[in-house]
Amino acid sequence: MSADLVAPDINRIHFVPGTTGPTIVGADGVWLLTADGRRILDGAGGAIVSNIGHGRSEVAEAVRDALDGGGYVIPIWPTPHRERLHDLLVDRWLPAGMGHVFFTSGGSESADSAIRLARAYHVACGRPERWKVVGRHPSYHGLTLGALALGSHRNRRAGFEPILPAFPHVPWDDAAALEALIEAEGADSIAAFVFEPITGAAGGCLVPTDDYWRRVSELCRRHDILLIADEVMTGFGRTGRRWGHQHFPIEPDVIFGGKGLGGGYVPIGMVAATDTIVEALRGSGFMFFTFTGGDAMCAGAAAVLDIVEREHLVERSAAMGDVLAARLDDALGSHPAVVEIRGRGLFRGVELRPSGGSLAQAVVAEALARDLWVYPAGSGPPVSDAVMLGPAFTIADVEVDALVERLTAAIDAAATRA
Ligand code: PLP
Repeated sequence: MSADLVAPDINRIHFVPGTTGPTIVGADGVWLLTADGRRILDGAGGAIVSNIGHGRSEVAEAVRDALDGGGYVIPIWPTPHRERLHDLLVDRWLPAGMGHVFFTSGGSESADSAIRLARAYHVACGRPERWKVVGRHPSYHGLTLGALALGSHRNRRAGFEPILPAFPHVPWDDAAALEALIEAEGADSIAAFVFEPITGAAGGCLVPTDDYWRRVSELCRRHDILLIADEVMTGFGRTGRRWGHQHFPIEPDVIFGGKGLGGGYVPIGMVAATDTIVEALRGSGFMFFTFTGGDAMCAGAAAVLDIVEREHLVERSAAMGDVLAARLDDALGSHPAVVEIRGRGLFRGVELRPSGGSLAQAVVAEALARDLWVYPAGSGPPVSDAVMLGPAFTIADVEVDALVERLTAAIDAAATRA
């Protein structure tokens, strides 16, 4: 990497704008506009967030109207925007039998709430000895202490291990390891198993086999272990289906999401559970966050989902995902620095051959030098270096070409210097 190329380290906090990258002053479609007049192709929708594209005034108007006509309302009371978003999710997005949604401010709060929900459910069913929530390796579920404990992302957990609950982890693709873990720990101590249908930041879009999902499903059902799908990255059409888990033979008891629900316009997340779980909890209470179901956030998210449906963007994510995959295969399929290209829909990972240094960071820096943003992924073995692509579903054919061309040039340049 040349001296003037600095890759932003996404595992660190950056408080000062401009110190780690360009100052962004506007955005339109898949383009980010910088203070010094550059147009950066947002190949990863920020952190796999932007799905309807940037600059949609319809969403801004929905949020403004909600703020104009109201104020803060405690989450225990309905408001029209809360009710509308809830009904939209239940009627049009969630699987049958999931009639209840709890709102949060994002993915980490959702992961934490799902953990709390699993524990509360077993306690309500008279099984207070069940508290362990099994996570996978690699995985990432967020930064609250519960979510951090559940995930295995090495860099993001580093230094915090002593204060994290001791949740067990199993390899991402190994159902036999889960069976052995259940045997060793005792099924009666385990509340839930949490999975990203396609592993994001920690694995660069790892996709397990159907057989894996069948076996995991059968094991968890047999032992009364709740199946919880983390759809924070994979939800709301990102993988070309409404939910990432719908690619596989598995039916979760709980689904949680964030990112694409607000499309990057509003901070909002959600947790949905089967009616059976919610019924069991009736009367036991489930504490809200102050900003659970913030009215303007719900109005913004409903506007995002309206656009996704009206413009058939889930179908577009599938179609443009196929285009992106084909072009990536053509350009990079036999590149010596590339191990694998994988994913579904507009959620694609390019795993890079480890080179001693961080090739992913070098590729991100080289891409940025070519006015392209891609998201670095990987957290040590089994996936140390990868970049993820997740542009808005509105991306045009010529923009896919530009993305792949710039990424290929960035990988060439980074690999030459490695
Ligand atoms: N779950 C997954 C799969 C994620 O990728 C992320 C964030 O990247 C989270 C949870 C946490 O979401 P947030 O950063 O909105 O708290």
